[in-house]
Amino acid sequence: MRGGWWGPHEPVAGLLDIAGIRRSAGELRAAFEEFTAPGTPVLHAFAVKAASLVPVLELLAQEGLGCEVASPGELALARAAGVPVTRTVLDSPAKTHAELREALALGIAVNADNPEELARIDALMGSAPSTAPIGLRVNPQIGGGTIGAMSTATDTSKFGVALRDEGAREWVVRAFLDRPWLTRLHAHVGSQGMPLELMAAGVRALFVLAEEINERVGLRQIDTLDIGGGLPVNFSSDATTPTYREYAALLHATVPGLLSGRYGLVTEFGRSLLAKHGTVLARVEYAKSAAWPPHRRHPCRLPRSPPVRSSSPMPGRSGSPPTTPKDAPRRALRLPRTSRGRAASPVTWSPRTGRSPSWMPADHAALLDTGAYYFSTHFAYNSLPRPGIYGYAPDPDGTIRFATIRTPQTLEELTTESGSAHASALRDLGRP
Ligand SMILES: *Cc1c(COP(=O)(O)O)cnc(C)c1O
Repeated sequence: MRGGWWGPHEPVAGLLDIAGIRRSAGELRAAFEEFTAPGTPVLHAFAVKAASLVPVLELLAQEGLGCEVASPGELALARAAGVPVTRTVLDSPAKTHAELREALALGIAVNADNPEELARIDALMGSAPSTAPIGLRVNPQIGGGTIGAMSTATDTSKFGVALRDEGAREWVVRAFLDRPWLTRLHAHVGSQGMPLELMAAGVRALFVLAEEINERVGLRQIDTLDIGGGLPVNFSSDATTPTYREYAALLHATVPGLLSGRYGLVTEFGRSLLAKHGTVLARVEYAKSAAWPPHRRHPCRLPRSPPVRSSSPMPGRSGSPPTTPKDAPRRALRLPRTSRGRAASPVTWSPRTGRSPSWMPADHAALLDTGAYYFSTHFAYNSLPRPGIYGYAPDPDGTIRFATIRTPQTLEELTTESGSAHASALRDLGRP
């Protein structure tokens, strides 16, 4: 890495545990292999928005996963990672003509989000028939989880055709009767905060609808069910719960026909593949003493973010961990005081190996479980440059090796992105 991976100009960096990501990908595949009939086609398409990093997409492809993309940008990343079009699924909730035309020409699986989008696909199929697998997203309206903004199966969710709306179910059946090329059904019932039972109920509703449609059509026109992602992540301890195996077992029990080989299967997990394997590491500049009262001295407020653990318990008062799930998603994360501040225990990096590497300076804060969504939803506020992201894994002899996943954004890149090439563009505009 340029100038050492943790240079003086990098106050913040992202770390990804590559062995952990491989392990999670393997657990996902193994879970569904265990419960699906032999020979069932299964595609696990990683939701790119959870970690839009080309090397990560290539790593996951190496582990047998594909990509779920929701924009031309995400599709470009998947292609840059060498993910085959046959292992890519396009799901964005508002697809342009150009986006649809490209996907159909490439043979990428497309899930139409709504009747308007289906009409666009009708027109394209009329002028240039495609063999791309095409599906329709539905909203089984099984209800929301504990986080409203992340629930996509409520009555009023704007994604997919809402099945319980008046006339909607019949409209969906008609859509398939009229279009022999419409061969997939898709649902993604929510992200984080969804109980497994509710997720399984959504998948069951999808399956029942597919059976009904195939019955009405008189043949097995729907050949693949896309059950989305949404497996919740435990942010309060090291434990990975629930597991893919638990979910696959529950699906096996709740919707036996789903995994019986009657249908091919697509999944779209994001958060559950990456969250536990990422750490945001930040250098502590100083302990600010201006705030009052003293117990408010070091809060780092992260409104609206999911719960995050920091790497060491809060010193002093109770010694309890800085967050509890019930505080989430709106709470203050208090950082322990630093060795350069007035108080005792320094914040040191202690990953799950428990060791604190000797090459680290003493004062760093680590935010655990930040492998999903954090590196793809960076904040451009205050023109803070995007931090570098580095993957690490042990060599066979136990030494930890690092690789650059994303170089830190330079100030030059940042100014370019903010329009420096057009610095004088407004000079004469609107002047009398
Ligand atoms: C966000 C999203 C996913 C991934 O959800 P996770 O909670 O990260 O597993 C999958 N499918 C669709 C359509 C999505 O919008």
